[in-house]
Amino acid sequence: MKQLAINGGAKMVKKNFAWPVFDERDVNAVTDIAKSGQWANPDCKGYVEQFEKEFAAYCGSRYAVTCVNGSVAIRLALIASGVRPGDEVIVPPYTFIATASTVLECNCVPVFVDIHPDTYNLDPSKIAAAITPRTKAIIPVHFAGQACDMDAIMAIAERFKLTVIEDAAHAHGGAYKDRKLGSIGHAGCFSFQSSKNLNAGEGGIVVTNDERLYDMMNSLRNVGRVKGGQWYEHHNLGCNYRITQFQAALLLQQLKRLDEQTRTRDENGKYLASRLSTIPGITPLTRGHGETAHTHHLFIFKYDKSQFGGLSKKQFAEALAAEGVPAFMGYPKPLYEQPLFRDKNFLCYAIPDHVDYTNVRCPVAERACSEEAVWILQHAMLGTRQDMDSFAEAVAKIYQASK
Ligand SMILES: *Cc1c(COP(=O)(O)O)cnc(C)c1O
Repeated sequence: MKQLAINGGAKMVKKNFAWPVFDERDVNAVTDIAKSGQWANPDCKGYVEQFEKEFAAYCGSRYAVTCVNGSVAIRLALIASGVRPGDEVIVPPYTFIATASTVLECNCVPVFVDIHPDTYNLDPSKIAAAITPRTKAIIPVHFAGQACDMDAIMAIAERFKLTVIEDAAHAHGGAYKDRKLGSIGHAGCFSFQSSKNLNAGEGGIVVTNDERLYDMMNSLRNVGRVKGGQWYEHHNLGCNYRITQFQAALLLQQLKRLDEQTRTRDENGKYLASRLSTIPGITPLTRGHGETAHTHHLFIFKYDKSQFGGLSKKQFAEALAAEGVPAFMGYPKPLYEQPLFRDKNFLCYAIPDHVDYTNVRCPVAERACSEEAVWILQHAMLGTRQDMDSFAEAVAKIYQASK
């Protein structure tokens, strides 16, 4: 039997997976801006406007507003949607903090609804039970780049007159029934932070078909100025959330690679899932929930320690990483167990006193965190088919060693 790398044996995977991917075109785009001296465009014209137009068209949406990051993107969409203090917003508990913290930043209350065990996306069958007269919006997260069940979510939203803000921070270029993720709800939010599938170091964008939402978000990210207004004329409580020309020019270049990269990850994902499914105790999340392009910001599989001699998920993920697979155990606990929620550290934000997260229970998310979920990161999914074979062989090696 081969010795595990974590115990001093040879690694299964020796390759380093590069991220970000760039070449002379990206470097020249940034250098040209530096030389021009036009590092920013205070009116959000120039490359910023050009990128907004291209990204909106790419998503099949009418409008797009860039901003400093994906968290602010969600915040802009929430405020523009008309939420008021004390309103409730439904969010999943298995996601990055911003999906829920931006709700608090609007003086609103995140209400956690559990995820589906096959996809780790918001479980539509559990949404209706969480709706109250105060519910105003739902933020489905296309987690790992897999589409949420948008038909079901949009139907619930229509029935209860809720705004749907898609958190597509993992899902640039992903699709649900051939419609681009982010373009299906009332607004779709993306992040361009450096780990994301489309990146400029930092940045964010909201796409929408709703002109009223667009005008408000455009105002909010530009210190409350309005279309046709003067420079020293501030109508709304916004802020300077503008991006630089450097980011926009880089994104215009990076966007050219996105489709090919998404195709590669998607194909690798299908292949890796088929390889891993043959190993006892390993179950990739299931496809077939409407996704027509999975971006695999993460490749997630479920781990069953009972098939691995009781080896904990954390130990398994560490052994896998030691084998050279860019893998990680993911979130160790659902969001509502964070001190922010447990201790109600809401600072100056006016969150109603009755709010209490100590009794929230989402068993599927809890099991995903503590027992099941193992992540392989997106840049590794850009590898070759042989790389996917080597990832599966690394898992099989740990399985053999556990016997
Ligand atoms: C990254 C991320 C965000 C926020 O993006 P930032 O650009 O880091 O602010 C929001 N939601 C999810 C699911 C994310 O992964």
